[in-house]
Amino acid sequence: MSDTPVFLDHYATTPCDPAVIAAMQPYFAKACSGVAAKKAIAGALQDISAIIGAKPHDITLTSGATEANNMALLGVAAAAGQARREILVSAIEHDSVLEPAKALAAQGYVLKTIAVDADGFVSPDAVAGMLSDQTLLVSVMLANHEIGTLQKIDEIAALAKNAGALCHTDATQAVGKIPVDVKALGVDMLSFSAHKLGGPQGIGALYMRQTPPVPLARVIYGGQQQKMRAGTVPLALAVGFGKACTIAASNMEAHAAARRECSKAFLETLHTLGIKYSLNGSSDHRLAGSLNIRIQDVSADDLVLSLSPEVVFSTGAACQNGTPSRVLSALGMDAMEIAQSIRICFAGSNTNVQAIFAAQKIADYIKAKG
Ligand code: PMP
Repeated sequence: MSDTPVFLDHYATTPCDPAVIAAMQPYFAKACSGVAAKKAIAGALQDISAIIGAKPHDITLTSGATEANNMALLGVAAAAGQARREILVSAIEHDSVLEPAKALAAQGYVLKTIAVDADGFVSPDAVAGMLSDQTLLVSVMLANHEIGTLQKIDEIAALAKNAGALCHTDATQAVGKIPVDVKALGVDMLSFSAHKLGGPQGIGALYMRQTPPVPLARVIYGGQQQKMRAGTVPLALAVGFGKACTIAASNMEAHAAARRECSKAFLETLHTLGIKYSLNGSSDHRLAGSLNIRIQDVSADDLVLSLSPEVVFSTGAACQNGTPSRVLSALGMDAMEIAQSIRICFAGSNTNVQAIFAAQKIADYIKAKG
């Protein structure tokens, strides 16, 4: 097929859009400082903030969502002192939320994990039951990076606010794919990353509410180009991030429809070819085109290896360091079920032909194995 390799691992990263590369190119090619650099950064911040309904001064550029998540959790704790000592995170957070949360637990914070149900949902009632006058921060992701499920962040943020706690959401998988508005969500902080929405790797952003300002202490010290973070702003990457946000915003509906179609064609082809699968996580409240499926009696690792490099998808974080996926375990799946699960995430640029081809290749592999 001419459309190969078929890349279906967009949970992990997305290819940099050619228009983004073109927008960045002049900034790599010649040094840019002073007024010209300031103007370019201001334009980029305008475009980056617009995609989440924020203002340029709400945004701190970081090296990615990992740093933004670390900054949010560690920065809030550093500013809080001894005031409130409990942190709530969901059981399906990315490591870049969970690990700083664990680091805070090692410093004496009480870390409480919010369980999810079998569909991968955090119940706002469960959050309500865990909040107390000791809760400093609640961090629940908007969209999951393995199963694509979407959480009720607006309800969770309102509960946190009522309890006098702050609310952070890791929106890395959501921004650019679904409309995200920080005001409608009511969050105090939100993280996202350029390379998940057609931008370059190595740049992300932390949104922080400004009125009243989120009490957040710096965790990266040095020469401040931006208020919260030291270091030279990577100009070309910032411009690319801005351009990617603009493109993603204008294509959002069309790309969601394309991803939905791909996902439908893929699953229908598997079904037609007699492959039995089950969907991990809710079938309704998830990002369009973001799948995680279990194919009984098939080793996900072997499947991924044998179809690569023609068709690329993954077991995701499913087998991190040899341990079964935390996310799938949190859904109540056992080690064997997890070892049979693959994650596939279509992009707006994927075609139905590619989706059908991928499903056929999977079916061929399974039939050949007998
Ligand atoms: N959060 C989520 C939900 C992610 O999927 C990822 C990337 N896998 C990150 C955070 C980290 O993003 P970055 O690569 O920009 O550090």
